[in-house]
Amino acid sequence: MHHSIEKLLGVQKFDREISLLEEAKIRRPMELSDDLRKVNAGKASVSAVEEVIKSCRMDIDKGELQVKELDGEIEKSKIAMNGSKTNEEFSICKGQIEKHEESQGTLEENVLELMSHLDTLQGKKEEAERELADIEKAYQRKESEVNGLVSGLESRIGGLKEERGELSVDIDQDHLDIYERVRSKVDADSVVPVHKKDEGEGVFFCQGCYMRVTKQELTQLALAQELLTCRSCSRLLYLED
Ligand SMILES: [Zn+2]
Repeated sequence: MHHSIEKLLGVQKFDREISLLEEAKIRRPMELSDDLRKVNAGKASVSAVEEVIKSCRMDIDKGELQVKELDGEIEKSKIAMNGSKTNEEFSICKGQIEKHEESQGTLEENVLELMSHLDTLQGKKEEAERELADIEKAYQRKESEVNGLVSGLESRIGGLKEERGELSVDIDQDHLDIYERVRSKVDADSVVPVHKKDEGEGVFFCQGCYMRVTKQELTQLALAQELLTCRSCSRLLYLED
């Protein structure tokens, strides 16, 4: 086997492991997406209750204002009643006062109902906030766990890259360039053996793309003096010892 192939196979072993770890590094944080969705749903529940509380408070304020306005109307009617000169005037004012007081009673009842509804809503808000706090706590726990795993992966990747670098200084730069070029193209192993399809026949195939290797190429591989690439997929080929 050509000495560069031997070393490139070592580099390839590192590259395989590095790319597996890189994939895991990307995949790990994705495990958080479900929990993040739960956190956002929890936040949405809290704000939904807050919105209802806001509009309930506005209704209460509006009702209280209307009750106060009727106080003014009643006061006016009372003054008019005291100044009335005829029985008719007096009874009209009295009727107005009664009408206003009736409306006021209904409004006050509504305000009381709204206030009790507001209490229920406050309870709901507190419950939603407690749930959100639990969800956030679980998310943070998982996030720090994932961050720990990711930084563990990063340091392993760093170590492997260092070892790979040490191994590649010994390799002929031209040969390393071929390796890198093919690897970036096929995004998989760029050094592959040639194998026989079945034992009986002396026909060999590239194990990257299954292209048949010619007799001349096979001789070249057996001599192992020069590097040989596959005519079809450009992978570096070698004959196993
Ligand atoms: Zn091939």
